[in-house]
Amino acid sequence: MEDLVKRAAKDLMESRYAIALTGAGMSTESGIPDFRGPKGVWTTNKEAEAKAYQRYELFLNNPKAYWEEMLGIHGTYGTFYEQIRQAEPNPGHYALAELEALGIVKCVITQNIDGLHKKAGSKKVLEYHGSVHVVRCVSCGLRFAREGICLEELPPRCRCGAALKYDVVHFKEPIPSDVMKESESEALRCDLMLICGTSAVVYPFANLPRMARFRSGNVKIIEVNADPTPLTQEGISDYLIQGKTGEILPRIVQVVRKGMSP
Ligand SMILES: [Zn+2]
Repeated sequence: MEDLVKRAAKDLMESRYAIALTGAGMSTESGIPDFRGPKGVWTTNKEAEAKAYQRYELFLNNPKAYWEEMLGIHGTYGTFYEQIRQAEPNPGHYALAELEALGIVKCVITQNIDGLHKKAGSKKVLEYHGSVHVVRCVSCGLRFAREGICLEELPPRCRCGAALKYDVVHFKEPIPSDVMKESESEALRCDLMLICGTSAVVYPFANLPRMARFRSGNVKIIEVNADPTPLTQEGISDYLIQGKTGEILPRIVQVVRKGMSP
């Protein structure tokens, strides 16, 4: 394990353009429940899962009812996003922000909707599945801070007149094209991909490591995950450092810092 931490630090220092891909495993140490794990939100509450599957359609058909559900005026959903908004970053988030500040990591692409990478200080973050801190217009694509939005009249509306929804990408909702395009160009550009806390099985996000692996040229793909994943088994990643991101990433940063000091 220690050897792999050193190897990852060396690979990062030798990289020209490293990016990080992150998922639920990154935020569980911040108390954010995952959705698909054994104790996940959907795994333990099938009714909530069924509702979640209908949420995008509900927005399209009746944006007022969508907002009433999201705010907990009807149903029990209201406190869920609120809890997520109050979560704090953990050492794994800070480690990635530090790798960016050191000029090594150029971009973080996350599936997490909690905004914790930005809270931890990461500057270039692509929130692939959106953010609970943001609302978005599905018509013109404009985004606004959730905090600044007046919710007295539902649904809140964009300048263009269309109803706003949470930036969070619901089931059956397409990934916003700007984020998707940028993520793909980052995946094709990087020479090192650090995959943290995700098994990358949810598509189209799962394409990103595969695009990096199968494009021409050399790319190093390093996994930091609690368990082996399809990426490990299919040989998409070069190696897996098995454990918690909140423990392993700070150790990698420590070695990088030592290596960079004169
Ligand atoms: Zn609009």
